[in-house]
Amino acid sequence: DEQGDTASATPRAPRKVQRPTRFPIIAVLGRPNVGKSTVVNRMAGEFKTGAVVEDVPGVTRDRTYRLCEHNGRFFQVVDTGGLLFDDDPQNVFLPQIREQALVAMREASGVVLVVDGQEGVHPIDLEVASFLRRECLDATDGSSPPRVVVAVNKCESVRFGDAQAAEFWRLGLGEPIPVSGIHGGGVAEVLDRLCEEIPEAQPRRMDENGRWILDEPPDDLEAGILNVAIIGRPNVGKSSLLNRFLGSERAIVSEVPGTTRDAVDELLVVTDPRTGDEYGYRLIDTAGIRRKKSISYGTEFFMINRAFKAIRRADVVLLVLDMTQGVYEQDATLAERIADEGRACIIVGNKWDAVEGKDDRAYRAALQKVRERLPMLPWADALLVSAMSGQRVPRILDLVNAAAEQHGRRVRTAVLNEVLMEAIRWQPPPSTRQGKNGKVYYATQVSTRPPTFAMFVNDPKLFGDTYRRFIERRFREGLGFRGTPLRFLWRGRR
Ligand code: GDP
Ligand code: GDP
Repeated sequence: DEQGDTASATPRAPRKVQRPTRFPIIAVLGRPNVGKSTVVNRMAGEFKTGAVVEDVPGVTRDRTYRLCEHNGRFFQVVDTGGLLFDDDPQNVFLPQIREQALVAMREASGVVLVVDGQEGVHPIDLEVASFLRRECLDATDGSSPPRVVVAVNKCESVRFGDAQAAEFWRLGLGEPIPVSGIHGGGVAEVLDRLCEEIPEAQPRRMDENGRWILDEPPDDLEAGILNVAIIGRPNVGKSSLLNRFLGSERAIVSEVPGTTRDAVDELLVVTDPRTGDEYGYRLIDTAGIRRKKSISYGTEFFMINRAFKAIRRADVVLLVLDMTQGVYEQDATLAERIADEGRACIIVGNKWDAVEGKDDRAYRAALQKVRERLPMLPWADALLVSAMSGQRVPRILDLVNAAAEQHGRRVRTAVLNEVLMEAIRWQPPPSTRQGKNGKVYYATQVSTRPPTFAMFVNDPKLFGDTYRRFIERRFREGLGFRGTPLRFLWRGRR
């Protein structure tokens, strides 16, 4: 028997989809001009270091939620200043404004009261403080009140900062923390305080540029349907493979319109005979697979363009090769794009029936050759099949399920850091000629599809490609992730 048939596929539970969780909210209060927005920028900036943070429009007109990260905790900061106060001092605490501020605070896990250390305690500060004590500290309705931290801003002076801050003990809200929104001092301490009480929450997704993606997952994901693209050069056997999938006894097929005008997707539901579990697959742009011969000019361009579009919409990509011909430049171009887009992938070497000498050794040698020509996909499973005879075709869907599972997998921060620290012990980051040492603080997984890790280090420039590849290798050895690309965001301290 040939390689690959022997490994029995383990039945898997139908794909479960994680809903993005909400982040805990921190409400920032304070009089106008005490420096609330400067402090909020700092808090979000804590997290930034090279990443761009997208602001989320708040539920009400004048609230803006900013995403922050501190020591692996994620939360949203909302400046509620405009709700609680009015520039006209006579207008402070209008009942309905106050009502809105209360709403903002009720949904908050933490409150930062910003005051002006250079101005000292203002009567309004005292008023707000008693309001907060009543609403937060003395809450008697059984709800868990938000944590309150007093940030005494404009305390950049080393000589006077602490004394300026100490004055605000009078507010009766615990130890005031001297900060400087302008210089950044003290902000980390405020975040430390907040984190003591804030529940851990998982972030949503982050793209390759470190930009948060805040859209809800498409409905397909909710239903556990996998998006699968079959791509490859003309005549490698894509439509033959498609027909094999669609024609199998256990398949139920229905056509659904794709996203572009002439694209058609086909929905395929396959029942696993061993478990009775149903698996749903959306085969992307099947019209493009079937109709390729109708384009008479610029075929190459249309083929590539169409394939790129399909890759973008896929969770898992089947890269189909023609084993009677070998791997071409175009195949490598497609492979490159799959890796760049962060899609899971299975390499499918088709027409294996038409290749001479198909024993174990030939099988392995052929796969080896494919891998050498596609070095951008070292993590992808590869198998040699025949769409014509159907040999090993059912195995493709097993690999698709497994790759999708890894693509959407999340590893706990503790486990991740165990693997990371072990890797560093094994091989510490090299020092530069100037004697500077790279330091790794910790890592956290910031998203899935593909699994993406933020690596918090002293200075990303101190980590060369060789060391980064070493870390990826150790992650894969320690954690698996077969079938999916991984992403690493190396972030330095400000
Ligand atoms: P907000 O109205 O509370 O949001 O206050 P802003 O963030 O707009 O800041 C009000 C003013 O205070 C601006 O002129 C800032 O430059 C200044 N400011 C903010 N933070 C600091 C700080 O840490 N030190 C000093 N000296 N000035 C600050
Ligand atoms: P597409 O252009 O990638 O969709 O390729 P097609 O499915 O149209 O197949 C192109 C040609 O390859 C056709 O003549 C098929 O009969 C042939 N072909 C497809 N799959 C196989 C296979 O597994 N073995 C052999 N020997 N020929 C195949």
